[in-house]
Amino acid sequence: MAQPQSWEQRAQEYSMYGFTDLPSVHERGTVVLTHGEGPYVFDTNGRRYLDSNSGLWNMVAGFDHRGLIDAAKAQYERFPGYHAFFGRMSDQTVMLSEKLVEVSPFPRGKVFYTNSGSEANDTMVKMLWFLNRAEGRPQARKVLTRVNAYHGVTIASASMTGKPYNEVFGLPLDGFIHLTCPHYWREGRPGETEQEFTVRMAKELEDTIAREGADTIAAFVAEPVMGAGGVIPPSKGYFQAIQPILQRHGIPLIADEVICGFGRTGNTWGCETYDFVPDAIISSKNLTAGFFPMGAVILGPELSDRLSAAVEEIEEFPHGFTASGHPVGCAIALKAIDVVMNEGLAENVRRLAPRMEEGLRQIMQRSSNIGELRGVGYMWALEACLDPASKTPFDASLSVSERIANTCTDLGLICRPLGQSIVLCPPFILTEAQMDEMFEKLERALNKVFAEVA
Ligand code: PMP
Repeated sequence: MAQPQSWEQRAQEYSMYGFTDLPSVHERGTVVLTHGEGPYVFDTNGRRYLDSNSGLWNMVAGFDHRGLIDAAKAQYERFPGYHAFFGRMSDQTVMLSEKLVEVSPFPRGKVFYTNSGSEANDTMVKMLWFLNRAEGRPQARKVLTRVNAYHGVTIASASMTGKPYNEVFGLPLDGFIHLTCPHYWREGRPGETEQEFTVRMAKELEDTIAREGADTIAAFVAEPVMGAGGVIPPSKGYFQAIQPILQRHGIPLIADEVICGFGRTGNTWGCETYDFVPDAIISSKNLTAGFFPMGAVILGPELSDRLSAAVEEIEEFPHGFTASGHPVGCAIALKAIDVVMNEGLAENVRRLAPRMEEGLRQIMQRSSNIGELRGVGYMWALEACLDPASKTPFDASLSVSERIANTCTDLGLICRPLGQSIVLCPPFILTEAQMDEMFEKLERALNKVFAEVA
C-alpha cells in the first residue's frame, strides 16, 4: 500500500482527534501547524492565521516568546526532569509554590502539582474525599457545579463538567450535581430582573443543600467566568449571594481558574475581578503561558491546615503524578508569571479590554443576527441568533457557529464555535492593529454566513 503523502492524509490516517467534528474534518481536511510568531500560527502550506483563541486560551504570551523559551532551555540544561515523591522535589518546585502562594489571594497556603487542569480538579476532589474521611465524614463526597461548566475530561472533572456530551461515557458519576448556569440573558425568566435572577440562583443552591444534606457535600466548584461553556460571566452579585450560603453549611468554594487565572479577566485571578476569596484555586493553562503542560491546586489556609493535619495522621497522601512539579514546568511557570504580571501583559489586557468590547459591540450593532455580546478582559463571545429580539437561535442543523469559524479560518483567523457563540480570547500580546485585523476578518465571516442562512 502506498504511503499517504500529504500532511492532511497522514494526520487523518494515524492520529485520533479530540473534540473534533469529524464530518467537517473529512470535508475540509486537517490544518497541520508548524510554528508561530507572536499571536500568529503557520500551517504546512505556509498559510498564516491570527489565533484569536490563544491556542486553547493558554498561549497568552504568543507562540515564540523569547524569555519563556530561554527559561525552558536553561532549566533543561540545569536539571531536565524530576518528580516530587518520597520527600524529594526540585528547587524550582519549591520556588514556584512560594510564588503561587505569594500571588494567590491567600495569606498562606499549599500547592500540589498536576500535568493538566483536569487532573488538578480530580486531585482537588480526591483531597476533599481524603480529608472528609480522615475527619470522620466519609459521606461528604458530593460535588456541586453548574450546567455548562467545563472542568475537564478525567473521570471526576468530566463528571463536574455540565455538558450533555459526557453521556456517551456514562458520566457523570453519581453524586455530581449540576445547578443552573448563572447566565441571566439565557436563563432569566420574563420580567425577572438580574438581581432577582441571582436571588433565584442562590435559592436553588440553598434548596439543593437542604435536599441532599449539607453533610453529604464535599464542595461547590465554579469558574469565575465560564469559559468553554461559551464565555459566561456570572450574573451580578452571584458569588456574593452564594458564598455566605456555602460558608453557613461548611461547604468549600473552589474557584476553577484554569482559564481566568493569570490575567485573562484583567486581574491576576478571576475571583479578584468578581470580588470573592475562594477556599482553593485550580490553576493551569496560563500558569505556564502554554509552554508546558502543568496544573496546580492552590489551597487556602483553612483547607491546607486541615489537609496537612489529616496527612500527618495517616502519614501519607497517596496521590501524585510522575511529572508533578516538573522542574522545567516550574521554571517556565515562574517566568510566565513574571512575564504576565511584570512585563505588561496583564496590563495590556486591562488597557485594551474596553477597546475589544467596543469593537465587538460595533460589529454586533451592524449585524441583525447577534443576540448577545458577553465577556470581560480578553475573553468574549458573540452569540448568533436567528431573531435577537426573541432570542431565537438558528436551527442547530445549520451549524451556524461552525460555519462562521470555518469561514474565519479561510480568511486567516482562528476563532472557536461554542454552541451558537463565537469565542474570542486572544493572546495578551495582541496589538491594536492585530485586534483590528481580528475584527475585520470576523465581521467579513459573520456577514457571509448570515447572508447564507438568515
Ligand atoms: N477547567 C477549566 C475551566 C478549563 O477550561 C479546562 C480546559 N479547557 C480544564 C479545567 C481542563 O484542563 P485540561 O484540558 O488541561 O485538562
